[in-house]
Amino acid sequence: MPMEHLLTLNENPLPPLGPVAAEIAHHVATVNRYPEFYPERLKGVIADWLGFPVEGLVVGSGSVGVALQALQATVRPGGGLAYGWRNFDAYPLLARMAAARPIEIPLLPGGHQDLTGLAKASVDTDAVIVCNPHNPTGRFVPAQGLREFLALVPTDTMVVLDEAYIEFVDAGQRPDSADWVREFPNLLVLRTFSKAYGLANMRVGYGMTSPELARRINDFQLPFAVSSLSVVAVEASLREQRELRTRVDFIVRERNRVTRELIRVGWNVLPSQTNFLWFDEPERTHEIREALEQNGVLARYFESEGVRLTIGDTEANDAVLRALS
Ligand code: PMP
Repeated sequence: MPMEHLLTLNENPLPPLGPVAAEIAHHVATVNRYPEFYPERLKGVIADWLGFPVEGLVVGSGSVGVALQALQATVRPGGGLAYGWRNFDAYPLLARMAAARPIEIPLLPGGHQDLTGLAKASVDTDAVIVCNPHNPTGRFVPAQGLREFLALVPTDTMVVLDEAYIEFVDAGQRPDSADWVREFPNLLVLRTFSKAYGLANMRVGYGMTSPELARRINDFQLPFAVSSLSVVAVEASLREQRELRTRVDFIVRERNRVTRELIRVGWNVLPSQTNFLWFDEPERTHEIREALEQNGVLARYFESEGVRLTIGDTEANDAVLRALS
């Protein structure tokens, strides 16, 4: 059976918003020219759109690129970097690249990050990462829990709040995390154009922080890091807010439909606030894999832990439900 439905990487199943592909195509003839040395224009565009001071904004090659710059700026050689584990695969790689000592705090039962454990660890680490909503479990920490956590972290430990999936969180629950950087200047809120905006291949991420921390992070900005085609794609995407909301609503509706149906037929699927689902089924990963692969669906398997499944288009989601019902 050919694998028709690639539901492995939490990508957006939809093509770029409205005129974005055409805008990129229009600018392709300029690829012999370098982009800006540092992406100042992109920063201005994002800052204007956010209504966030440009002095506190950092941008880079995906949010992983921004995270790497931030760790290089704040973690001393061999200094601690704490995060929950299991988590986004890139964190241990970033730790290695930044010469940090990874401190992995096990998740709590039910796929929650152990914020108390992370706060304790943060006392002698240079940086700590909280992924919210969490990859791979889809769990979400509401604002109050995050603020209590931030208050416990020493002011000289950087907190990276990775909000790659924030657009998929229920509107009433999305934290005002960008506003917290005034109170917590050690906080870096990370976002990306890779998920809700569907620009994974354009590699644009950004971070919101205090001007002090932004200055330090910007010292590690790689020259020419963001292609001007990516800048065009972001600018065109930001003009399509209405279509963006329609698409996010579609993905959220599909996520809720697939979750409901899988729970109804007996799978232990956690409630998700992202564009993917977590099967909290450590004993059944092989069984799930076989059933999905027979229906042309590829998901992400974590043996003895569970399965992560990206929400796809309707056809892909229907194939999942056929496989697992
Ligand atoms: N953070 C998390 C939690 C992710 O899951 C991902 C992508 N899988 C990223 C960041 C990476 O995003 P980007 O494409 O912006 O580097």
